[in-house]
Amino acid sequence: MVERIKAVEDEAISRLNEIKNLQELEAWRIRYLGKKGLLTELVKNLKNIPTEDRPHFGKNLNITKNKLENIIKEKRVTLESADKEKKIKSSAVDITMPGKGIKRGKLHPITQVMNEVVDIFLRLGFSIADGPDIETDYYNFEALNIPKHHASRDMWSTLYIEKDTLLRTHTSPVQIRVMEKKKPPLAIIAPGKVYRRDADVTHSTVFHQVEGFMVDKNITFADLKGTLTALLHAIFGKAKRVRFRPSYFPFTEPSAEVDVECVNCGGKGKLSNGESCRVCKETGWLEILGCGMIDPNVFKNLKYDPDKYSGYAFGMGIERIAMLKFGISDIRLFFENDLRFLKQF
Ligand SMILES: [Zn+2]
Repeated sequence: MVERIKAVEDEAISRLNEIKNLQELEAWRIRYLGKKGLLTELVKNLKNIPTEDRPHFGKNLNITKNKLENIIKEKRVTLESADKEKKIKSSAVDITMPGKGIKRGKLHPITQVMNEVVDIFLRLGFSIADGPDIETDYYNFEALNIPKHHASRDMWSTLYIEKDTLLRTHTSPVQIRVMEKKKPPLAIIAPGKVYRRDADVTHSTVFHQVEGFMVDKNITFADLKGTLTALLHAIFGKAKRVRFRPSYFPFTEPSAEVDVECVNCGGKGKLSNGESCRVCKETGWLEILGCGMIDPNVFKNLKYDPDKYSGYAFGMGIERIAMLKFGISDIRLFFENDLRFLKQF
């Protein structure tokens, strides 16, 4: 009987050394210490041996049983900690790997150009004013020397809401609203959205304008030329030629349109391969903005003395500048919110 116990113990210990994981350990436990395990069977067998021999065998069995229980406990601790370490290693963060970049959003190209133009004027000493998108006929037209039934109203394809209420066709009404409240000297720009009944590759129903004006004593056309030339040089580069062409606007007299040398062909009208330039239609010039000296009639409406004060005003489309700056031929791209387009800026 003693040999039998010793044989079971030896077998158990030698097998234990080969165990590599917790499942195998459990199988081992069942084989030796389970309800029908080899050692348990030996305990059951005690009743078959003579009574006087039982204490001796019983003691031997107990020693072996305790021994096996102790070594399984130790083995379990070792296996469990190895298991844990393995899990940590496989899921651990490798701090030497580059991090995941968070994609930052960007400003819309129109906002970028708008900010650029506004910044230039702020540096020139202008301040910003704001006005409503829904305007009255008075502010949008009449106060700007465009009476009802005047032929020049055809210049703006107006979107009317009611008879005397409309979506502003330009940011010029802000001029009137500011001059009603304040006295010269004034140097103001009014950036904002404007609306027209017009839509094709170069016209949009909604677009953005920056309107500006300066009123004080002794303001001359030279001040206007200096300011706008500085603006266009800041946007398109100092090397670009700028020209002022006579034009007509009801609220300015004299009026001019301002052109900058074509950004596509360098003012030649033709490309280096001899093809004609489509951006400037072979003229070598790009029309950028309209301007002029504020008409004395506008001052009279505002009870400013036209003999005492003079001033200039100008207005430009931001989409037009952005299209030339970025070489975009279709204005609709700005409003489609296609990420493939927007990501390029
Ligand atoms: Zn050109």
